[in-house]
Amino acid sequence: MSDFAEVAERIWVARYPWFDVNVTVVGGERGLLVVDTHGSAAAAREVVDDVRRLGAGDVVGIVNTHWHFDHTFGNVTFRSAYGPIPIHAHENAAAELEQWGDRTKQRYVDDPDDPHSADVIDTEIVLPDHTFSSARVLDLGDRPVELVYPGRGHTSGDLVVRVPDADALLAGDLVEESGPPYFNDDCWPMEWPLSLDIVLGLTSQASVVVPGHGAPVDREFVETQRNEIGIVAETIRDLAGRGVPLEQALDAGEWPYPSERLGAAVARGYEHLPRSQKRLPLV
Ligand SMILES: [Zn+2]
Repeated sequence: MSDFAEVAERIWVARYPWFDVNVTVVGGERGLLVVDTHGSAAAAREVVDDVRRLGAGDVVGIVNTHWHFDHTFGNVTFRSAYGPIPIHAHENAAAELEQWGDRTKQRYVDDPDDPHSADVIDTEIVLPDHTFSSARVLDLGDRPVELVYPGRGHTSGDLVVRVPDADALLAGDLVEESGPPYFNDDCWPMEWPLSLDIVLGLTSQASVVVPGHGAPVDREFVETQRNEIGIVAETIRDLAGRGVPLEQALDAGEWPYPSERLGAAVARGYEHLPRSQKRLPLV
């Protein structure tokens, strides 16, 4: 069980122990917008119960900040609870969930001892059906909610949700508080810092920023994380430029995060660097 706590005017966040993931509810005259839906149909039943206990109204729409299952696999449960409500996401996120959602299930098939295995495998994947490419404004009646695509980073399709009247920004996994930012084999490490510059441009000194995982943070936290991710990108660029082979790069670099968390970042970074910046080893 988790309780929704109000972090800004009519914006409530519930933090669930499995993945320490956040689900956010934005309230408006026309109803509630739910941002991210947790990691399985079963897990989302608890979320729906929590939303009902909040007593702030009915859910009229869903937003998926990106395709990862801990943010999308609960879509099916919200659809059964509230009918055919729109599910908004960036077009890349919808495509990636369609392409890779079953791969996530397979990981749990291969790991039957995980206590959530059966729940994840049994989940029907429901794709976002309202996609956009750069920005979209949703009208909750008395307040507009902006969905903005700042560019590639944690995945190729992360969006941020801005609620201007509350000076709040829901950052998805472009910002993480519960641990280092998560670089997986679908990340874009060289572009992530630049996307965070766009995100920072949507905030003020007073903004409340809700990360995908962990406690709400402020703008200064996001600036620090942007700089750390920037160091990851610049270190990758430097190592590749000096001709350090990929297999040695992780050990050769000085990183702002534990190197065991950065294998995918380095591999993807080497892959994404323009040819001119990759030098062949001299020996
Ligand atoms: Zn994620």
